[in-house]
Amino acid sequence: MAPAKVLVLGGNFAGLGVAQKLHEYAGDRVAITVVDRKPYLLFVPNIPVEVLENRDPAASLEMPLPPALAPDGIAFVEAEVTEIDVEHKTVTMVPTQRPGGETVRLSYDYLVIALGNRLAYDRIEGFGEWGHTLSDTYHANRLRHYLHHEYRGGPIAVGSARFHQGSGGRDVIPTAEAACEGPPVEAALSLGQWLEDRGRGGPRQITLFTPAAVIAEDVGPEVVQRLLAMAQDAGYQYRPRTGDIVRLTADGIEFEQGPSLEAELKIVFPDWVPHPFLQGLPISDDRGFIDTDLTMRNPRYPEVFAAGDAAALAVPKLGWLAHVQGDLAARQIAKDVGAMPREEADRAFQPSVFCMGDMGGNRAFYIHSDAWYGGHQQILKTGRVPFLLKMQYKNLFFRHHGKVSPWSMQMAAMVAEHLPG
Ligand SMILES: Cc1cc2nc3c(=O)[nH]c(=O)nc-3n(C[C@H](O)[C@H](O)[C@H](O)COP(=O)(O)OP(=O)(O)OC[C@H]3O[C@@H](n4cnc5c(N)ncnc54)[C@H](O)[C@@H]3O)c2cc1C
Repeated sequence: MAPAKVLVLGGNFAGLGVAQKLHEYAGDRVAITVVDRKPYLLFVPNIPVEVLENRDPAASLEMPLPPALAPDGIAFVEAEVTEIDVEHKTVTMVPTQRPGGETVRLSYDYLVIALGNRLAYDRIEGFGEWGHTLSDTYHANRLRHYLHHEYRGGPIAVGSARFHQGSGGRDVIPTAEAACEGPPVEAALSLGQWLEDRGRGGPRQITLFTPAAVIAEDVGPEVVQRLLAMAQDAGYQYRPRTGDIVRLTADGIEFEQGPSLEAELKIVFPDWVPHPFLQGLPISDDRGFIDTDLTMRNPRYPEVFAAGDAAALAVPKLGWLAHVQGDLAARQIAKDVGAMPREEADRAFQPSVFCMGDMGGNRAFYIHSDAWYGGHQQILKTGRVPFLLKMQYKNLFFRHHGKVSPWSMQMAAMVAEHLPG
């Protein structure tokens, strides 16, 4: 039998993960092609550490995709996806290595959408002139330069614009008002320590703001309470319930709710918005996030799957959820092609937040919680061990081309949760 043609759109955490897992589960029963506009994976979670250490994240956090995929016989296409036709099972794309590429159409038997989202800085008035952020190497280097060469010692604001969640997965996932607040919490905590270490002030200069009633509500009330107590003891200012960001100016940030915040440096995270070509498709929710059941399969087009930030079920927008969802989608396709028994494949998505964030001074926080989704786990650990694990995870990921064994993940969790920080 000819192998089933599997197209994986996107080659970052969700896309690479699903392709590698599917190869592991289904071998030569599938012919996998990964499509991404860039030929490398960007290890986003470690960008803040690189910026504060004054290292260019492009030099240390980009992992080439073709050499990671080739040993498993997975093809890679460097192209910009522009259209998905789920009726005819085709995807339209334009090769991106040289400008002026022709339009190409690839057909599929199975499609996995792992394209992440648009990070909508273009919807924040004044961001181009006055804003800074940490979500990619361009902005990271811009902030790195500012911090290390231009920062005048003024007040700093760190926080998020309002997230507009779609209707998909509402029966499973509560509604979030910020897409992903681990990054602002991490940026604020590590920057406060960085200022202190350099005798340039400290946490008192930093205001952490959130559009929601509390920051990082998705980690559960106990963890939030402890994080806030820790931050407030250290001297951080805190401003919840700002609503959306109205505009950035030279002097600060104007919000939908409450007074403006004075700030020389404005580090903001935007709304995570679905790609325009996903909006209005019969596989998408009312905003353009891809609708799936708990196995990451689209209910209307069962040969279509989604994983990671593009999926409606991925809230908050977290690499950990991309990893978990990629595995679930791979199991389903392996089952469909007869490579995995139903009992092994039919696992339902169990959302949880699992993250490690830098706090500066070789310390980090470790959070493992499912309380926001109705569970009972709320673990917060801080110290050198979580920092070591965060840095080691990146090293392992690069050394094994993204194939970090479930065993190492379980080991990391055990070490973080049971050893003193
Ligand atoms: C500063 C920061 C720190 C973070 N820290 C953590 C953390 O500590 N832990 C954690 O779990 N999560 C963290 N996150 C969140 C995490 O980075 C994301 O959830 C994760 O990257 C999502 O993976 P993904 O593969 O779904 O999407 P993405 O990483 O966004 O990947 C999407 C891929 O699709 C490609 N693509 C997009 N559109 C097209 C197109 N039209 N054609 C072709 N290719 C396309 C892109 O090039 C990209 O490679 C952090 C995020 C930020 C911004």
